[in-house]
Amino acid sequence: MDPTVQAQLQQDVEAFCQQVRPVEELCYLEHRFNQEAIELAKKYNLLGMPVDVQWGGRGADLSTYLKALVRIGQEGSGLRTLFSGHTSIGQYPIARFGSADQQQEYLQPSARGEKIMAFGLTEPEAGSNPLELQSSYRQEGDHYLLNGIKYLISNGGIADTVIFFAYPAEGQRRMSAFIVDTDGPGIEREDMTAKLGLPTCNTAMFELTDYRVPTENMLGSEGDGFRIAMATLVSGRLSVAAGCLGVIEDCLKETIDYAKERQQHGKPIAQHQLVQQHIAHIELSRQTTESVLATATEAKMLSDADLDDPERLRRADLLAAEVKFVASNAAFDAADRALQVFGGRGYSELFRPARHWKDVRVCRIYEGTDEILQLKIAASLLGKEYAAFR
Ligand SMILES: Cc1cc2nc3c(=O)[nH]c(=O)nc-3n(C[C@H](O)[C@H](O)[C@H](O)COP(=O)(O)OP(=O)(O)OC[C@H]3O[C@@H](n4cnc5c(N)ncnc54)[C@H](O)[C@@H]3O)c2cc1C
Repeated sequence: MDPTVQAQLQQDVEAFCQQVRPVEELCYLEHRFNQEAIELAKKYNLLGMPVDVQWGGRGADLSTYLKALVRIGQEGSGLRTLFSGHTSIGQYPIARFGSADQQQEYLQPSARGEKIMAFGLTEPEAGSNPLELQSSYRQEGDHYLLNGIKYLISNGGIADTVIFFAYPAEGQRRMSAFIVDTDGPGIEREDMTAKLGLPTCNTAMFELTDYRVPTENMLGSEGDGFRIAMATLVSGRLSVAAGCLGVIEDCLKETIDYAKERQQHGKPIAQHQLVQQHIAHIELSRQTTESVLATATEAKMLSDADLDDPERLRRADLLAAEVKFVASNAAFDAADRALQVFGGRGYSELFRPARHWKDVRVCRIYEGTDEILQLKIAASLLGKEYAAFR
């Protein structure tokens, strides 16, 4: 990527983060969705960072885009989740698998922020195993009729367009993917309000009943859905890992600042060795995560450069799982240590560590739970015949 364009994007991300921080803080304390974040992201043209410039995006390469997510992650996992849902798992499958017409119709307005995107794979009865999903489709003339419930979907209550996965109502169970505009009749949505964290971003369930989408809105070919979903999760996992690195960086900064300022036993707590141990641990988490993220990013960029190379694909997929596991656990630990160093104040949402602690916990669940990722990593070493599930 052109270094001047890259520098401009970084400046815009920085300006966005500085402006969004007070609004995000207020929304967090009032436990409400941060609509202003979308307006600011539009202002700084950040809603299509990796989208090709021909579709109105910034044309950022993966490494530059993930650096932006690291910075946004410092502001909180809720804010970063908005971007992951919209770009890494919403726009990505269209950019990667969509036809030129689909790219024009959806990437352009979504890069401008006129359409917010979401990715609807999870269902009440299909989480860790998406192959168990129950949503269905059937063709009727030049339309498909979609039926099914999607559950726990980031941006699901605000999205104008959702990537929806379903099996044919009759015949072989081969999953397909659809680009669904949410403005037609036959959709019911409900926001998930009783969340542990992430109060400033939207998580929702929605149900489609005989919902009509034109046949040209099938993404990829019929039966490609599972492959599209899995490829999209690689993109999503990298975005989660980048956001987690941002969380660790922010926890480190907050902890150092607070430890130098707070006095107990006649000196700054930063001079107490057990407090220093927390700081050392967070720094080690930061270093490890940064390094694993760099390796995983490089693997994904190599794989994207040659989509026909199965070995590159396999490596990118595995490293994305590894970095998501490492980063989300390291970030949760960093938030926990930061909270501990803040003492009683750490237990209050008025301070950043508590907010990170509550918000980043979900990163060990969404886009593949800790358990599923560990099984994937182990299977890659043991061989397919030892895979715990298929
Ligand atoms: C805030 C939030 C946002 C989300 N955003 C999205 C989104 O945008 N799009 C989307 O499609 N989904 C989204 N999800 C859903 C998320 O991806 C799922 O919650 C996740 O995949 C786990 O599925 P589940 O909740 O059904 O848990 P389950 O699959 O029921 O798992 C429950 C527990 O059992 C374990 N388990 C399951 N199978 C095995 C096994 N074979 N071996 C060992 N352990 C196992 C799991 O690891 C977990 O600990 C979101 C979730 C949350 C909380």
